[in-house]
Amino acid sequence: MTEKEGCEIDLRFGRVLELFYDIAGKKMPKQLDLLDEWLPGFIIEVRDEEGKIDAEYIDSETTIYASRHNGSLYLGSNTRINQILGRLIGTAKGNQEKERKAAELIRKDTAAILIDQPDATDTLRATIHEHLKLLSDDQLNEFHEKLCAAVWDSTVERYKKNGYERLDEPFPIDDEVWDGLMYNAGYQLHLYSYEGIINAFGWLIIGGLLRNEAGRVVRMYHSGFSAVNRQIAEDGEILDKLQYLFFPEQYQSTYSGNDLEKKYPGISWQCDGCGEILENQAGFDDHLPVWQCRHCGHLNRIDISAISDNTEDRLNGFHYSDEDLEEFNRAIAERMQELKKN
Ligand SMILES: [Zn+2]
Repeated sequence: MTEKEGCEIDLRFGRVLELFYDIAGKKMPKQLDLLDEWLPGFIIEVRDEEGKIDAEYIDSETTIYASRHNGSLYLGSNTRINQILGRLIGTAKGNQEKERKAAELIRKDTAAILIDQPDATDTLRATIHEHLKLLSDDQLNEFHEKLCAAVWDSTVERYKKNGYERLDEPFPIDDEVWDGLMYNAGYQLHLYSYEGIINAFGWLIIGGLLRNEAGRVVRMYHSGFSAVNRQIAEDGEILDKLQYLFFPEQYQSTYSGNDLEKKYPGISWQCDGCGEILENQAGFDDHLPVWQCRHCGHLNRIDISAISDNTEDRLNGFHYSDEDLEEFNRAIAERMQELKKN
């Protein structure tokens, strides 16, 4: 990725999808049709294929009912639904409490569907694939670039604001939710794969639509949408993490720990068989070439090629190479120098 002029988005559903329509050179559908096109059956239920009935929203069902008329979904003249939809998409300016509440209910409901029904995220990704199919190879590359820029620029812009400013917007997103969404999207983009683009766009769509409710989805899946249960906030600053993903050539690792008698300072060894932390087992020494887990008996290699930076990397099969070993040793040597001076 190259550093270009700003491409920040405020992570609203409509703004996220605009990234696609701009590159596809297509007109973006309005409200009802837009939601129905990307999340068919989630929020809008088509009630009557024939007649022209007014759209309806029932609080307890958190679904908007509409009918199809001349090929497009019919909204009628119901300004309330119009306002709710505008809030979901990020275009409504009104400030009515009732509509805000309704939009919140729909967000909660949609988050629950994405969590409780494992095929719901598959459906979303299949829908994204149907749209991306329409792009040429060049357009797809451009789309990838634009998503990278949107993730990076939006996060840089967000953290120029102070905490109060970040909370002072309609449907504010907590920092940990934002960071989780952007890390997932950034991670998938840095894989430079078609699947990665689909997954990254999926995270941006989910964040844009669900806002803070997206936190529940972030906790549920790893960045490629396989189910995991994890703590939402992994340590480390989001801008550092994104810089590492997008501008690896500018990244310099540092080490600030003190456990320098170890062969691999700062590295925690987890059993590939059962997940137990190996350094907690009696007799473990990371200078050994292999270690048999005292819990499950699995033979674990203890060398550089068994080290991953984080869970995402491990799940995606990324391990340290000899080049990383050099960088790793450089950071350790620097730390030794630093300790000698003090
Ligand atoms: Zn084990």
